[in-house]
Amino acid sequence: MRIILFGSPGVGKGTQAKILSEKQNIPHISTGDILRQAVKDKTELGLKAAEIMNKGELVPDDIVIGIIKEVLKSEKCKNGFILDGFPRTVVQAIALDKMFDELNIKDAILVHITADENEIIKRLSLRRACRVCGAIFSLNEIQGLTQCPKCNAENSFYLREDDKEEVIRKRLKVYQTNTMPVLDYYLSKGRAISVNGIGTIEEVNENLLKLLNEKITVNQIS
Ligand code: AMP
Repeated sequence: MRIILFGSPGVGKGTQAKILSEKQNIPHISTGDILRQAVKDKTELGLKAAEIMNKGELVPDDIVIGIIKEVLKSEKCKNGFILDGFPRTVVQAIALDKMFDELNIKDAILVHITADENEIIKRLSLRRACRVCGAIFSLNEIQGLTQCPKCNAENSFYLREDDKEEVIRKRLKVYQTNTMPVLDYYLSKGRAISVNGIGTIEEVNENLLKLLNEKITVNQIS
């Protein structure tokens, strides 16, 4: 399975990608996670990216394209992958198609997870991350907890700089302007499906898998 999970910040791409990755035993590749790790490690890339990310803007195309090129070529992506947060511009989508051509990949499908903007703003402002392992939780999941349920770190929950309300608004604007055209690009090629992102995590995941299997079956027949 080769999947591009697409949708607004906060729609649940990361959560769904993690579940799919475990169920299908294929790697979850999140450009946001890779960049956040680089920021944490204070690498050259991290130093360049930090300020841009904190403002809710996009890291330059050539940087993220370079990151994905390396990852897709690697052994771990041989049997499939889930891309989360890439491509975010049409330039990135075109570069990704070129990589697919070079790697002889023909079956990648974009899955658009949908949700309305009010729901997204609510979800993002209630989101907390673990400073140690990067796991994301909703405030009500960690109410009263002092330890991270994923890595057991003490008092590690924080509101990501880019989940603050003014930055959320900026990220949503960037999404509408720069990222939404990527959907048209895939729709025009008949390589996109869409799934409702409202519901429990399990419901959304069930629908997503059902739609993916249908799409894969249709592609195999036609
Ligand atoms: P995410 O966790 O996917 O919401 O990404 C967090 C931030 O990382 C974004 O707001 C961007 O600043 C940056 N980023 C992640 N993926 C990309 C991408 N494909 N292109 C440009 N910037 C990205």
